[in-house]
Amino acid sequence: MSAELNLNVMFSQRGHLTLAHSDAALRTMRWRAEVNVLEGVDSRVIDAGEVKALVPSLDVSPRTAHPILGALYHPPGGIIRHDAVVWGYGRAAAALGVELHQETEVSDILVAGGDGPDGKGPGGRVTGVRTSRGDINAPVVVNCAAGWASIVAAMAGVALPITTTPLQAAVTEPVKVFLSAVVVSGSLHVYVSQTDRGELVFGAAVDPVATYSTRGSLEFVEGLAGNILQLMPGIARVRLLRQWAGLCDMTPDYSPVMGRTPVDGFFVDVGWGTYGFKAGPVSGEQLAACIATGRAPALIAAFDLARFTEDRLVGEKGAAAVGTDAAGRLPSLRPPGRRGLSLLGRDQPAARPRGHHRPGVANLPAPACQRGRLAAGDLVLPSLPPARRAGAQHTLTNEFREPVVDPRGAVE
Ligand SMILES: Cc1cc2nc3c(=O)[nH]c(=O)nc-3n(C[C@H](O)[C@H](O)[C@H](O)COP(=O)(O)OP(=O)(O)OC[C@H]3O[C@@H](n4cnc5c(N)ncnc54)[C@H](O)[C@@H]3O)c2cc1C
Repeated sequence: MSAELNLNVMFSQRGHLTLAHSDAALRTMRWRAEVNVLEGVDSRVIDAGEVKALVPSLDVSPRTAHPILGALYHPPGGIIRHDAVVWGYGRAAAALGVELHQETEVSDILVAGGDGPDGKGPGGRVTGVRTSRGDINAPVVVNCAAGWASIVAAMAGVALPITTTPLQAAVTEPVKVFLSAVVVSGSLHVYVSQTDRGELVFGAAVDPVATYSTRGSLEFVEGLAGNILQLMPGIARVRLLRQWAGLCDMTPDYSPVMGRTPVDGFFVDVGWGTYGFKAGPVSGEQLAACIATGRAPALIAAFDLARFTEDRLVGEKGAAAVGTDAAGRLPSLRPPGRRGLSLLGRDQPAARPRGHHRPGVANLPAPACQRGRLAAGDLVLPSLPPARRAGAQHTLTNEFREPVVDPRGAVE
């Protein structure tokens, strides 16, 4: 990619470990390794001794609450500088004659002949976009607005089954490089890697509330610290430098939505949630082919919008080992009995996420599936099964969580 884009995207292949904390998880890892090998991917299950040899800072002793029994090891895995990739693509696209309009907000999608108000909606045909810098005629419009996807789709009269949920990450002060691999624990809902500058980069599961706020929360840092220190007690005195959040476009089946919509000429490439970066290049190619040929290529055909009305969901929760929490709870693994902060706790106003729209989209209609305008302080429960919904207070409380059930039936 660096050669093709003529830009150093700082790709560092350093190995990727998904830790197994139980026999059941180890079984799942073995199964995943077999599938990977069948697909030609270099990956295998390693035992705790090999894990320790690769990452000496991990505590693989049996005395921990969640002992590391082994891992799924993927040697070609690594990290890449996402901003460098985006700059590389931007520059290459511009060189090919693509016009990029920065700081230009789309405020409306122009549609004619549709069944809905103003000629929008199913049966209509897209004619252009209205932007903060004027109207642009266009026979084809692609919605790839990720966390804002449902707002943009609503401008064309198209409803998307997408909710918007923040995903937080954090980074420490730089320390001497000691961590050579990317380490992920699906059970503890954390991942960690170290940049070439020495900062440790952490992430966890999506926040348990659907909101457009990108404010960091104390719960996230607390849960993260508790979980990561179970894996690497030696980093207890390393200080966090900053934390941030981005907006993830979550679908009911955790799979993206790609292809046509009921409005002719209006395409979507959305719903990537927590794992859309790595899928960017191929999904762009596939959607371009879909637009050029008028037919969805085989690779993306199953991910069409119609699957939600035709009962053809594509369960893809496994695509993000950490980014989603099956229970929709804060992913902290505290010792039982020690209750954490509640997002609704009256004594913790600083920890309450504030619902706020990004400047520029504040006055746009809320998407159909995220009804009602979010006002400051609003909390919206994520889509949960009815049984979980009944325990809503529970859902928003940072406390000991149940084991995560792998979509394929195994329990981690
Ligand atoms: C903390 C965090 C960690 C992540 N880690 C990973 C990872 O390790 N691997 C991975 O694969 N993925 C990861 N992801 C997910 C990944 O970042 C996203 O899936 C991906 O960036 C989505 O790309 P996109 O191009 O679809 O949308 P985005 O990059 O979100 O771009 C959407 C753009 O649309 C613009 N927009 C919105 N509304 C309008 C409007 N009305 N008019 C004009 N423009 C508009 C926005 O400003 C934005 O620039 C992570 C996400 C977060 C938040």
